[in-house]
Amino acid sequence: MIDAFAAILDGPGVLTGADIGPRYTNTRGHGVAGTPLCVLRPKSTIEVSHILKLCHDVGQAVVPQGGMSGLVGGGAPLGGEVVISLERMNAIEEFDADGRTLSVQSGVVLQTAHEYCEERGFMLPLDLGARGSATIGGVISTNAGGVRVIRYGMMRESVLGLEAVLPDGTILSSMNKMLKNNAGYDLKHLFIGSEGTLGIVTRAVCRLRPKPRTVNTAFVGINDFADVVAFLGYLESVLGGELGSFEVMWQGYDAFVRERCPSLRPPLKAGYGFYVLIETLGNQPDSDQGKLEQILADALERGLVADAALAQSDQQRAAFWAIRENAGEGFRTLGPMVSFDVSMPIKSMGTFGERITASLFQQYPGSTCLVLGHMGDGNLHVVAAVGSGTAEDKERVNDTVYSVIRDLGGSVSAEHGIGTEKKDYLSWSRSPPEIALMQTLKRAIDPKGILNPGKIF
Ligand code: ZN
Repeated sequence: MIDAFAAILDGPGVLTGADIGPRYTNTRGHGVAGTPLCVLRPKSTIEVSHILKLCHDVGQAVVPQGGMSGLVGGGAPLGGEVVISLERMNAIEEFDADGRTLSVQSGVVLQTAHEYCEERGFMLPLDLGARGSATIGGVISTNAGGVRVIRYGMMRESVLGLEAVLPDGTILSSMNKMLKNNAGYDLKHLFIGSEGTLGIVTRAVCRLRPKPRTVNTAFVGINDFADVVAFLGYLESVLGGELGSFEVMWQGYDAFVRERCPSLRPPLKAGYGFYVLIETLGNQPDSDQGKLEQILADALERGLVADAALAQSDQQRAAFWAIRENAGEGFRTLGPMVSFDVSMPIKSMGTFGERITASLFQQYPGSTCLVLGHMGDGNLHVVAAVGSGTAEDKERVNDTVYSVIRDLGGSVSAEHGIGTEKKDYLSWSRSPPEIALMQTLKRAIDPKGILNPGKIF
């Protein structure tokens, strides 16, 4: 079989044995990877098609991979599969300023696409911490979210068309460029967020937006959760759609940053109940900063916020964001962690934070439980470190958090997907008829079950 793959791909396109580097099996603690049969690195859609046709004929399992920055093990080989890494399909094919589209191969790294668009006065709005390694195909296959969803939506909102290869090798080219196209089913949505279980995305047409001319960033301290919600509503009402990010960090996270992350410099004093990082994206260079300053002053006067700092330079802006995104040095001191990506109605978030921290501290005195996230999107992340990190502990922590989520009518996965890591809890957020229809679709498109088996279900 390896020989047959080698006939399809040129020399460096096929990796076996010791040549399979850690890139293809490193789950960074999210799921456990086995050893793949081989790693294939095609350079074109037709090569992906030939590979899948061969695999389909003999029932060989396949795992598609993007930048391997996922957090639920969705790209991890479980053992014996053919890994198809799209990393060499990294061409930017076409930029259309009038139509505001960017057509790319799916292995283009997100940050590369960002820089390409920004040089031309546009933006691809999807943005997240892993921008330097995540690929367009990966963020499509996982319907990634990140820090701009409140303004521009998830990746789904930025995909106009795509090309995918079906498990039997059929090429489904649907490189639509129009915002409106209701000619029958919109098939691209089958492949957006289905974690590589229904097809391998090989190319895409991304929707671009004009690059905002101003970016203003502030760090805000708020005492009560009700005021955080009120402040979000206030900002949305006065900013007229310019609110780009609304990231909330609970007090425990701020305390953790001060104690464990010596390279980070919080701009406000310790002790507020909540810290909010807000960012506005506007088009009035002369007045946008003054406008935000006035809005914050009004919010202080109304008692909605207790303290605020407005970034005065790009350097300060980066320092604010580092508090939200770069706490890795602190996480590394925590030992085994269980991390969560959950969503729920915004008004329930205060209760959620209180209930899970109380429950975890009661079960594991002295443990760490950090809550933060994209509050404007109804999405929170939780990092729980309960010490020993045994399978029993992990299950107990999972059950604790997800049972609160179930009570609140939330979702066990807001933006990371299910992969292998959240499989046991899919039914906590989806009904039996929903899961049955997902499985019907899977069987119809991949009757032999060769594409990313063992993921989601
Ligand atoms: Zn996130």
